[in-house]
Amino acid sequence: AAAAMRNAKRNGRGTYCFFEAHMLEGTREDVELLRDLRRAVERRQLALFYQPKIHATGGHVTGAEALLRWRHPVRGVVSPAVFVPLAERAGLIGALGHWVIEEACRQMQAWRQEGMRMRVSINLSAHQLRQPDLVRRIREALVRHQVDPAQLTCEITESAAMDDTGTTLAIVHELVAAGVQLSIDDFGTGYASLSYLRRLPASELKIDRSFVHDLEAASDACAIVDAVIRLAHSLSLKVVAEGVETESQRAILCRLGCDELQGYLFGKPMVPRVLATWARDGEAPGRPAPTKSSRYG
Ligand code: C2E
Ligand code: MG
Ligand code: MG
Ligand code: MG
Repeated sequence: AAAAMRNAKRNGRGTYCFFEAHMLEGTREDVELLRDLRRAVERRQLALFYQPKIHATGGHVTGAEALLRWRHPVRGVVSPAVFVPLAERAGLIGALGHWVIEEACRQMQAWRQEGMRMRVSINLSAHQLRQPDLVRRIREALVRHQVDPAQLTCEITESAAMDDTGTTLAIVHELVAAGVQLSIDDFGTGYASLSYLRRLPASELKIDRSFVHDLEAASDACAIVDAVIRLAHSLSLKVVAEGVETESQRAILCRLGCDELQGYLFGKPMVPRVLATWARDGEAPGRPAPTKSSRYG
């Protein structure tokens, strides 16, 4: 935005006025991306990839997290870390969020028709938690696709859970009343107090991958993860570690009593068909070796 502003000043007032409205939304690249994003749903460029969650000691698949992907015709796959915040600022997250809810429920129904009951988690952002029709949308999608609400989990980040406490608490209670499970994502990166955590009707807590990453190197990370697992268990929460990439991280997490694991060590986010084969056969046929970067990861 700053660069665009400087350009605008150089070009004089007239041109500045023309771009003014768009400039409020960010840089020129953002403006272009946003223009494309507005059409992404109707152009069928959005997709949900599914990353498995693995039982820490049993090794079987316990469910999958739906992660949004945007296949941009020119830029390739754009990360949700880029376009979700953009969509939030532009007021588009509602539309994207509804698409995710609908698509996840449709997929669960399709899997069930193939004889596979797969638990699915979707991510909800702080902005979505302020939308008055969120819970109604979720309830309607579940009914439309005849999905048991208990099969669906909504992940909200610890910081989203903290913000605007009154409204958020009311909405998450409504969600849970609808039979959906609640998960606290990216735990450890926000500032949730213990007393607040107790008031959240969650059934799962996900340890942020920054702690998992430091497990082997830093003994304090190990102490933190140990404490978080004990805390979560004392509140009857299931603990999932995200971003597990190495065998030694897996071993440490198992020793500390973590319930479920998720990360490239087991599987990257994958298209539904591949996930289904993966979950059914227990092992991925020709599963690629875990690598640090992937355009899908
Ligand atoms: P998140 O919910 O914490 O998802 C975990 C992220 O870590 C995903 O990135 C996943 O691909 C990545 N990941 C999983 N295992 C590993 C690993 O072993 N190593 C590393 N380095 N990364 C791993 P992704 O898919 O790019 O999503 C980023 C964030 O975007 C998500 O973080 C979530 O906050 C948000 N997001 C994704 N899909 C949606 C959606 O449908 N709606 C909303 N509101 N947000 C979404
Ligand atoms: Mg998540
Ligand atoms: Mg997470
Ligand atoms: Mg995370």
